[in-house]
Amino acid sequence: MTTENKYIFGPVPSRRLGLSLGVDIVPLKICSFDCIYCQLGRTTRKTIKRVEYVQAEKVLKELEASLKDSPIPDYITFSGSGEPTLNSKIGKIISEIKKISSVPVAVLTNASRFIHNVRDDLYKADLVLPSLDAVSQDIFEKINRPHERLRIEHIIANLKIFCKYFQGKTWLEVMLVKGINDSREELTKMAELLKEISLDKIQLNTVTRPPSEPDALALSQAELESIKNILGDKAEIIGGFESAQGGRLGRTGVYSRNIEDSIITLLKRRPCTMSDMSSSLGIHRNELTKYLGEMERAGKVESFLHATQMYFQVLV
Ligand code: SF4
Repeated sequence: MTTENKYIFGPVPSRRLGLSLGVDIVPLKICSFDCIYCQLGRTTRKTIKRVEYVQAEKVLKELEASLKDSPIPDYITFSGSGEPTLNSKIGKIISEIKKISSVPVAVLTNASRFIHNVRDDLYKADLVLPSLDAVSQDIFEKINRPHERLRIEHIIANLKIFCKYFQGKTWLEVMLVKGINDSREELTKMAELLKEISLDKIQLNTVTRPPSEPDALALSQAELESIKNILGDKAEIIGGFESAQGGRLGRTGVYSRNIEDSIITLLKRRPCTMSDMSSSLGIHRNELTKYLGEMERAGKVESFLHATQMYFQVLV
């Protein structure tokens, strides 16, 4: 566990990326969206301005140390506390990573601003995982609650250009929320649109971790299957319906009983938010999210909403 790290976390098991060493280059929670399903809570600064939030040298120093100490990850992945492309130095950081490591670089992004300089930055990555949850402006606004200047048709146009010229792989994620973006009409429109974009995979997900808004509800496996059929051959379901026994963390061999015990000890004292736990235990929120997901499925903890904040309490 790299408790002293500020910008690097894990490696953590990822449903899509195997063992992933996380790079977090945007402070919590700076994002161009405020998605109703966000597992990080509500956006505190909604912006489309790109800023050097974190100095590249500091990130690279931590990364070099983590690569020496940790098992070799399948990917070095930009994800974390907000939208990573809002950091104006992401391109430079990817270039520098390429000089010190042969581990492929992945970027999880909401694709909200794939304007030309962002596209140039991301062309340096090996795998880009953009999300696209809607094709109609009204549904886009409901699910992603975007910055006021963002229009879905511009996002789609820029995504098309990016995919046309990108030499790496592109796996598009569609997060489905019950009653919001799961109508046949919207998904048929999306299927038509996705035929025009050069994608390697279309990955369907649903709400499996405590969302920012409690009424953001998951679809059933059967509903996901039927949407997969609408979206065609490249579509696959990645939404987690894993058994509570021997979950993914355990299978990848990076599950730490000490971390689970520390979470339980802390929660026995009082219910905590994710931020409370992260600062008390010195564990990055994304790593904590994985543990809490496993523990929730195993019936060891549960989440509840209190005064707009999501809390966790222990059940064992
Ligand atoms: S899910 Fe991603 S894009 Fe949406 S608000 Fe959270 S960090 Fe931003």
